[in-house]
Amino acid sequence: MAYKFIDNYRERGARKKLVQKLRERGIEDENVLAAIGKVPRHYFFDETFWVQAYKDIAFPIGDGQTISQPYTVAYQSQLLHIKKGDKVLEIGTGSGYQTCILLELGAKVYTIERQESLYKRTIQVLPYMGYDAEFFCGDGSKGMPENAPFDRIIVTAGAPFVPDLLLKQLKVGGILVIPVGDEKEQKMVTVIRVSETEFDKIVLDTFRFVPLVGDQAW
Ligand code: SAM
Repeated sequence: MAYKFIDNYRERGARKKLVQKLRERGIEDENVLAAIGKVPRHYFFDETFWVQAYKDIAFPIGDGQTISQPYTVAYQSQLLHIKKGDKVLEIGTGSGYQTCILLELGAKVYTIERQESLYKRTIQVLPYMGYDAEFFCGDGSKGMPENAPFDRIIVTAGAPFVPDLLLKQLKVGGILVIPVGDEKEQKMVTVIRVSETEFDKIVLDTFRFVPLVGDQAW
């Protein structure tokens, strides 16, 4: 394996500072902060760019995609209110960093990425780091009916609307977190399935994601 996985006092110190910064920005969920404090984000970067890994910024990961900003990852993770053992569908694996955070929160994760090159990278890197998820390559905008229902669904790319197919794959009491808007900016939307037929929708802050591309998307 070509990756050098070194996590020493310098990276751990940088991670602590990042956690502090997220706390100051309003992230309150201690489990989420602990997960951010644990996952070595620099492993998702080429060694040349390690100095960027603990800045609160998104960063290119190739194929026109980005590893999400830590604040965004923390914000979405906090909204999910994950309990140990929850079955979570993640749409847009990207680098796999968010996947690791979900796993640290105790979720059983099904993650899908439409770009084969990114999928191939994560199926190598995450198990090597000791993170075990169910990885899929394909269009996640339709969800994953064969593995539904899910306790939680997180979409990590910007959608033009909330796909009905995703709502159908939520358990009653389940939560969907999805950025919805145009190609420039999106509002973070949380949908809670209150009963078989009722859904509560909450519209929150503005973010900028890469587009969700697929059958139920752009
Ligand atoms: N949270 C990820 C991370 O920390 O690395 C970043 C995800 S990136 C902002 C969004 C990802 O969603 C991209 O890798 C993109 O290829 C993927 N994507 C876009 N449309 C998709 C779809 N329909 N199904 C699955 N993945 C999709």
